[in-house]
Amino acid sequence: MKIFEKAFRVIQQLEQHGYEAYLVGGAVRDYLIGKAVGDLDIATSATPDQVIKVFDKVIPIGIEHGTVLVRFEQESFEITTFRIEGAYSDYRHPDSVNFVTDVTADLARRDYTVNAIAMARTGELVDPFDGRSAIEKKELVTVGKAFDRFQEDPLRMMRGVRFVSQLGYKLDHDARKVMEDQRLWLARIAIERVAIEMEKLCRGKHVKTAVQLLQDTGLWKAMPIFRNHPELMGELSNKIVPLGSLAEWIALCSLLSTRPVLDWVKEWKLSNAVKQDAQNLVRLLQSDMDAWVVYQLPDHLDTGYCRLVKIYKEIDIQDELSTLRDSLPIRNSSELAISGSDLISWFPERKKGSWIRDLLLAAEKAVVENRVPNDKEQLKEWVYNGHDT
Ligand code: ATP
Ligand code: MG
Repeated sequence: MKIFEKAFRVIQQLEQHGYEAYLVGGAVRDYLIGKAVGDLDIATSATPDQVIKVFDKVIPIGIEHGTVLVRFEQESFEITTFRIEGAYSDYRHPDSVNFVTDVTADLARRDYTVNAIAMARTGELVDPFDGRSAIEKKELVTVGKAFDRFQEDPLRMMRGVRFVSQLGYKLDHDARKVMEDQRLWLARIAIERVAIEMEKLCRGKHVKTAVQLLQDTGLWKAMPIFRNHPELMGELSNKIVPLGSLAEWIALCSLLSTRPVLDWVKEWKLSNAVKQDAQNLVRLLQSDMDAWVVYQLPDHLDTGYCRLVKIYKEIDIQDELSTLRDSLPIRNSSELAISGSDLISWFPERKKGSWIRDLLLAAEKAVVENRVPNDKEQLKEWVYNGHDT
């Protein structure tokens, strides 16, 4: 409970002003399961305006939906007013949000019973949908009828599969049945929201089961690119292991589907960072590993690269990679002993042009491959006599 101490003091402060407040969502769930707890969300009967009056530092991050961010003793807490939601006609935000004063009404709008438990600062639980017995049975049960809840917000189907991946739980019979029958509802959801769940899914310990579930329910038919590659999800489910990032997932999907990373990035509206990492991984996975490949691989992709080589080529290169990385003569181009201006001064008669960049790159590669030492004089010699460009 130590991790909750500060959150409980935030709750106490709200109570002292006459409001009710609880810890809710993933933190309560993960605590009850015995898993590492992520962000701490608080729900309260106070309206956002009232919350703002209680605390000194408040950032109104989603005030129209009742959420503010409170800075309290160097930590941030999302505080959301108890609410019930109207229809989701844009499949992104509910049309209307009505603040309520009853925590049970707030818990009723939540997706799965394991996510609909509130914890008071005394540790006492408010658990109107018996989320605890779902935890005991390792089951994902929707709050209310699966058909209604998935129709309201079809992202909940994807969230369900994501929780399967993270928790290793089973979907209850109704939830699974509605997913199978109504899988195409998912296509109504903004792809960015699906991608956020996909990232959590591909990192989950039980990712194999989850990918199998995407395959069996046919949810893949509602997903860009997957829907054009009926074999892809099956191939993935045979090979997949828990990954480290969405970039790894995209790299693997790109290789198996033989569709360029750029297609995935466009159709899934992914960030530049994901694009760059996935492109790097794919490019390097398409050649055999040597010093030059390792040199070009950004450090932060080492683990992912090894994982993908193992999945895609079925070989273990981890030790070889770290040996190669440790013996690299330079780590990046700024460590090269010569620069463009050296080349210009050594060839004063040549007009400036792309030869400078090409020659520098050739020198960099020669150094990395130990064909010439990273020494200015020796590189000069190499440039005059030995180089092969
Ligand atoms: P994580 O550990 O990944 O943060 P989480 O369960 O906390 O998982 P969040 O997306 O942070 O997930 O949402 C917090 C809580 O809000 C959930 O536990 C759930 O009660 C509720 N919630 C989130 N998204 C939905 C949704 N689409 N429909 C209904 N309830 C939702
Ligand atoms: Mg959360």
